[in-house]
Amino acid sequence: MSSQKKKILLIVMDGLGDRGNEDLDWQTPLQATKTPNFDWFAKNGMSGICDTIAPGVRPGSDTAHLSILGYNPREVYTGRGPFEAAGIGLISKKGDIAFRCNFATVDEKMNVIDRRAGRIREPDTTELVKALEGLTIDGVQAIVREGTEHRAALLLRGPELSPEVTDPDPHDLAEVLESKPKCAGAVFTAGVINKFVKKSYEVLKDHPVNKRRIAEGLPPANVLLPRGGGSFPNIEPFPEVHNMRSACVAGVGMIKGICGVCGLDVLDLPPQCTGGTDSDFTLKAKCALEALKKYDFVLMNCKAPDVCGHDGNAKLKCEIVQRLDDMAGYIRDNFPKDLVIVFTADHSTPCSLMDHSGDPVPITIYTPGMVIDSATSFSESGCASGSIGRIRGFDIVPICMDLANRTEKYGA
Ligand code: ZN
Ligand code: ZN
Repeated sequence: MSSQKKKILLIVMDGLGDRGNEDLDWQTPLQATKTPNFDWFAKNGMSGICDTIAPGVRPGSDTAHLSILGYNPREVYTGRGPFEAAGIGLISKKGDIAFRCNFATVDEKMNVIDRRAGRIREPDTTELVKALEGLTIDGVQAIVREGTEHRAALLLRGPELSPEVTDPDPHDLAEVLESKPKCAGAVFTAGVINKFVKKSYEVLKDHPVNKRRIAEGLPPANVLLPRGGGSFPNIEPFPEVHNMRSACVAGVGMIKGICGVCGLDVLDLPPQCTGGTDSDFTLKAKCALEALKKYDFVLMNCKAPDVCGHDGNAKLKCEIVQRLDDMAGYIRDNFPKDLVIVFTADHSTPCSLMDHSGDPVPITIYTPGMVIDSATSFSESGCASGSIGRIRGFDIVPICMDLANRTEKYGA
């Protein structure tokens, strides 16, 4: 085969899919917004719809990204903790276990009053995490790192740890729970976790940052509540599986974590690429195109549509779609000839649901010289008429690999 190998840019617009919304005359944000650039790619490429995990399954962003990268989340997914920890730079050793944590507010009886401590963020969280540095419980190192806003990660390092423990986080405004072992081998770990929660309260409750917050009428972040414990997965690195130098361009810790765990290089981005609704998508696309000079495969995640979906803000989601379309316009104007590009989402986050749904997401793939199908618009309905049909998340990379002339022939 003489064809030149192409590179692949996979753009995952987080939570982009939606359902008919009353505020938009029962259209989705993608249907209700003019997207000339996305539509250009749909007109000149192939489209379809994608169940990132399986039809009707409501994916988390983490499991969806695993599936898109070709892994079976049911095999490799060991809880969000390890992925989030990796995403904020807590790279584990074998035997470590990790938890996601919230900075929360409790009263003196350990009743949760605010699960996010008034959505506390840096610099307050930075100070509080510093106060928890160097913690050792029963010979186990407890390493805390701050995540975005009220989030943090906890990594336990020591002998004979097990992630099979229940969450101290009550996931509600209720009393902090005692972590219980789910199996005999986890008794020690549950004890460590319970001591950690108590210790975090002791260290944080009278911390100057919290005294100041109380004086300002803000909820103090006086406890860390771990949840979703997991051990680190044994994942065959994506770059080796596919023989492609691979990187990820993302602003959100969890996505960086997933990609990092899968062996992608996690690239540093300018501060304007925030992972929020104020992120500069075009600048992010610029970074992704720049990275493709060095890498064969880049996954770019834009978190903003998901944030709008969770907030139930259909109008803002339309604005975000508009700005994402501008980003697509930038790519269209600066399109490298040897590129296969994919526009898709990891799941739908309907504004009417304010959470993820199992609806399939639109997907459009474009590279010069491919077969052009009859789909003409990039939306949940517009893509459904395309020749890709209805696929799963793990089909995406193989389809792109083939279009990129990177697959081995199967048979003679
Ligand atoms: Zn997501
Ligand atoms: Zn979400």
